[in-house]
Amino acid sequence: SKRNGRGQFTLFTQEMQDDNRRMVRIATNIAYAVESDELSLHYQPKVNCHGVVQGFEALIRWSSKELGFVPPNEFIPIAEQSDKISMITRWVMTQVCRDLPALLAAYGDAIRVSLNLSAHDLKNPKVTEFIVEKMQSLPIAPSTVEFEITESAYLESFHAGNVFFETLRGFGCKIALDDFGTGYSSLSYLTEFNIDTLKIDRQFTSQIGASKRSGLITNTIIEMARHLKLTVCAEGVETHEQAQFLIHHKCDLLQGYLYGRPEPLSTVVANAAKGDCQ
Ligand code: C2E
Ligand code: CA
Ligand code: CA
Ligand code: CA
Repeated sequence: SKRNGRGQFTLFTQEMQDDNRRMVRIATNIAYAVESDELSLHYQPKVNCHGVVQGFEALIRWSSKELGFVPPNEFIPIAEQSDKISMITRWVMTQVCRDLPALLAAYGDAIRVSLNLSAHDLKNPKVTEFIVEKMQSLPIAPSTVEFEITESAYLESFHAGNVFFETLRGFGCKIALDDFGTGYSSLSYLTEFNIDTLKIDRQFTSQIGASKRSGLITNTIIEMARHLKLTVCAEGVETHEQAQFLIHHKCDLLQGYLYGRPEPLSTVVANAAKGDCQ
């Protein structure tokens, strides 16, 4: 009825207003978060088929005095829209470089540490220069560092003739395509891309066992990666059944709650000492 319709309309605008207010609060608090130690990095292990840790993905966390815990899926898009993402990326980059020695000391020099870049970072020469300088002055082999980037962002940068990734690869840094399979890019590009790793999106991993077709897609991605001599990493591995399937099909790396949640550096380092992850 009309009465109902009107009631809903009022509710809807109220919700929109609340959403908008929260977005503005998040946007205005991001700069403060960067400056005042409200951000932290958590590290999630990536393991091989024997369950041995091969590396970690750095994932940002924000515990705000004003807003409480704000998940990255909420604040990263807002940071991108409000041009604050570059501050965050610089902070992440700096923090990863600071944490690297402790991670290598605990898990050995052969591990790899990944961090996420936003599509916006690639369009900002100040950010790309910052990253290049950081990698140039790294007191550790740059091949320890991997950058995770979505397909579409990589493709856009590729078409724009951006040499950022080539520069990084020149140092020995690795490049991973994140959330692989969810983008719109044509598979034929993969042969032209200079990348090292494909990360199979959680949406495919989670379907293993549930549907035959999703298992097929995952299997196909793994085989294609092998033909292209790329490392393949499956995200969001939660069950033994998923792990068995992936290992059976020779997926190189597994990442997910089954092997470990993202945890603070101190916890990750303590786990190595206990031999928990290995
Ligand atoms: P992503 O890069 O695809 O990261 C994987 C997400 O899956 C992480 O969520 C991780 O905690 C979660 N995850 C890992 N294993 C499992 C599992 O077994 N099950 C389930 N359900 N989830 C799992 P998180 O940490 O909340 O990050 C969400 C997204 O926020 C990331 O997705 C990434 O796009 C973005 N993000 C996180 N940290 C950063 C950062 O430092 N910089 C940028 N630009 N983006 C970041
Ligand atoms: Ca990622
Ligand atoms: Ca991902
Ligand atoms: Ca994702």
